[in-house]
Amino acid sequence: MNLDIDDINNSGGASADSPEESSESRLRNLIETAEDLIFSLDNYGNFLSVNNNGALSLDYKPEEIMGKHFLEFVDEDDKVEVAKSFQEALKAENVTTFEVSFMSKFGKKIIFEINGHFLSNKDQVTGLLGIGRNITQRRNYEDKMKELNSKLIEANRLISIERDRAKQQISVLEELNRLKNEFVSNISHELRTPLASIIGFSETIFLDPEMPEDTRNEFVGIILREGKRLAKLINDILDLSKIEGGKIELKKSEHDVMKILMEAIEANQKAAEQKNIAFTYDLPQEEVILFCDRERIFQVFNNLINNAIKFTDNKGRVKIIAQNFYKEVEIIISDTGIGIPSKEIPLIFGKFYRVPRPGTEIEGTGLGLVFVKQIVDSHNGLVTVKSEDGKGATFVIKLPKSKHINRGDNWPS
Ligand code: ADP
Repeated sequence: MNLDIDDINNSGGASADSPEESSESRLRNLIETAEDLIFSLDNYGNFLSVNNNGALSLDYKPEEIMGKHFLEFVDEDDKVEVAKSFQEALKAENVTTFEVSFMSKFGKKIIFEINGHFLSNKDQVTGLLGIGRNITQRRNYEDKMKELNSKLIEANRLISIERDRAKQQISVLEELNRLKNEFVSNISHELRTPLASIIGFSETIFLDPEMPEDTRNEFVGIILREGKRLAKLINDILDLSKIEGGKIELKKSEHDVMKILMEAIEANQKAAEQKNIAFTYDLPQEEVILFCDRERIFQVFNNLINNAIKFTDNKGRVKIIAQNFYKEVEIIISDTGIGIPSKEIPLIFGKFYRVPRPGTEIEGTGLGLVFVKQIVDSHNGLVTVKSEDGKGATFVIKLPKSKHINRGDNWPS
């Protein structure tokens, strides 16, 4: 069909009888009832006509639009773009498709996709016929889809992070489980050995009333030593369950920490002698008063000195140095023993951890250092270790002197 601007403009003027007139009126009806925005512009861009439904979709009556410039109805943000599209289309001098954001009479943004057809007369552009489809809803859906898509990407990312975390947690749990199983088999072994000694030696004493005094004393000594070992093991296990349940309460008061250290040194003297270890100490003469839990601090010193002797070969050296500084006291426990490989150092304060040493059977539960760290932490102190494989180990404890820290605190779980 050959459409002219006048077809739209003046279609209302024809009479109803002639066939030509009836085709014109059919066309007009079609245009008026169409849902699309159908319009014509003059060569300046002013509206020459617009269909009723089209005008209504922008909340106007056709007569409110007629004579006004197309850009007057375009959203401020979109004007430059639309003007450009017109220029482009003029060059093409043919059918053009572009998108326009109109601003309705009541300030609503309505998006149309417009098919424009330029009209010309002897190479002169005389105007434009346009059909616009309201794509606001489609655009809204698309925007929502985009938003949902980015949310979906975000959600997927979070899920994969969570999955990684869960994997990590599972591997931590698996490791913990492995350590626990190892611990249970260690502990059964550790419990069974002293028990077997205790039962064996006491049975022997019981069954032999004639036993020479010396042998009897030696056997009683073994029973006592093994009994103490058993008691320590059981205490360690009980302590661990208390730590894990966060149930240990510190009983802090003022104590001379040098006295506690001296007691720990004395408690280990015999073990050092038995291994011919040069066991020396250098402590300040004066009292060093700390606000601390006496028993627990003894446990720290005892554990570290015990380890130093345990992991040092016969005829090695273990030295304890204490220094009384202005704000803290520093205790160094140093040995010339088997040392700790540097990659193992970060692990030795972990529960049940024992440096793997195939072929060497050194008794232990891998719990002593867990307590050391917990106790020192709960006194706001610091424990560090310097060591190399085969070159001995040096543990340093720093305890602050401030009296009023953590009074009556619970042990951290
Ligand atoms: P354990 O009951 O095995 O002694 P600890 O928690 O006290 O448990 O120590 C953990 C591990 O750290 C020990 O098994 C040992 O491998 C290592 N370790 C601790 N102290 C020393 C030390 N002075 N020299 C060498 N290794 C040490």
